[in-house]
Amino acid sequence: MFGFTLPSELLAAKERAHTFAEKIMRPVSRKYDETGEWATDVYQAAFDFGYLQAMVPEDCGGPGASQLEEVVVCEELAWGCAGLYTSIMANGLAMTPVLIAGSPEQKKKWLGMIAEEPKFAAFSLSEPNAGSDAGGMTCRAEKRGDKYIINGTKCYCTNGGYADWYTLFCSTDPTKGARGASCIVVPRDTPGLVVGKALDKMGQRASNQVELYFNDAEVPVENLLAKEGMGFIIAMKTLDQTRAAVAAGGVGVARAAFEVALDYAKTRIQFGAPIFANQAISFMLADMAKKIEASRLLTWQAAWMTDNNIKNSKQSAIAKTFATDTAMEVTTDAVQILGGNGYSRDYLVEKFMRDAKLLQIYEGTNQIQRLVIAKEIQQGN
Ligand SMILES: Cc1cc2nc3c(=O)[nH]c(=O)nc-3n(C[C@H](O)[C@H](O)[C@H](O)COP(=O)(O)OP(=O)(O)OC[C@H]3O[C@@H](n4cnc5c(N)ncnc54)[C@H](O)[C@@H]3O)c2cc1C
Repeated sequence: MFGFTLPSELLAAKERAHTFAEKIMRPVSRKYDETGEWATDVYQAAFDFGYLQAMVPEDCGGPGASQLEEVVVCEELAWGCAGLYTSIMANGLAMTPVLIAGSPEQKKKWLGMIAEEPKFAAFSLSEPNAGSDAGGMTCRAEKRGDKYIINGTKCYCTNGGYADWYTLFCSTDPTKGARGASCIVVPRDTPGLVVGKALDKMGQRASNQVELYFNDAEVPVENLLAKEGMGFIIAMKTLDQTRAAVAAGGVGVARAAFEVALDYAKTRIQFGAPIFANQAISFMLADMAKKIEASRLLTWQAAWMTDNNIKNSKQSAIAKTFATDTAMEVTTDAVQILGGNGYSRDYLVEKFMRDAKLLQIYEGTNQIQRLVIAKEIQQGN
């Protein structure tokens, strides 16, 4: 069956998520943007609504949401506040390596924990000297008896300051480069793990990012996911899946800015007429509407492919790039349409613009997404 409308259960999920975004996120989004504090009240509510643990499968006690449901919900959450959305969405990012490569026991243990109460996990791939070139990681795990001894530094770990466990990507065989990388679940209370201070950011200030320092940190060997050497593949498979949720974030932020700009253009009178009457303004809004709709369809496609076990490296990179570049353009144009008011903190569009920028950077920059797309089309995919 082919169609472009959502089935009734997803329409209901979208409406429910919109209510959550409007009633719980929007009223506090400015406060958490200004203070950068951890929004415990919002995350408790996000747990009550089933969003923090959305990706936990039913047999581990969670709702077992599909990727399509995840992106439909994420669009609404990012509409509410992109910083709070990132905290919630990144829980799914951190859990995905366990979903992809964990044994049934590992899934029950680590994912089950997230389903029981509001808890966070954090995905830790980036290092100070290995960002886009993640395969160049130097954080090292050495097997000694029944333990891995971990040494190194990780950075930009979203939710890292509040996480109970980390999906850590590190090298178990430095002679093999990316093929020597492994993924190990590291509990927060691991001796030798020190969590750094929170990053001070331009936007999405409600979200938390920290550095992690490993100094002879000891983790049991049973925390390894799959086999040694599978880490880079697990990371890439994870990102293929989760980039659709970042694209959905782009759609949500863009839509939020578009709504404010459209309303303003229809009511702001200059030269005796609403500014919408100027083609320079109405065409800007038409372009926004056009790109938001295209972004949403690309996002749904990438998520639908994951749900149907179809390889989607190209489509998720296209969706992420298109939707987040759209979010940057739309939020910048929304500031322009509001003129001086757009630049003022009295309106939210300046926040939307700051928040949008991060979407072009994390989970692989949009330059790296273009590299992925180029490689895929070169191979005829
Ligand atoms: C707020 C925030 C949250 C984050 N959350 C997480 C997280 O939860 N977990 C995690 O592991 N990481 C996270 N990251 C890290 C993020 O994924 C990296 O910042 C990103 O991958 C880029 O790496 P880098 O910052 O080292 O930039 P670099 O890799 O140094 O890149 C700098 C610039 O060069 C460009 N560039 C690099 N190589 C190429 C190339 N071959 N061709 C063209 N252009 C290139 C990049 O696109 C970029 O514009 C987060 C980052 C931020 C800022």
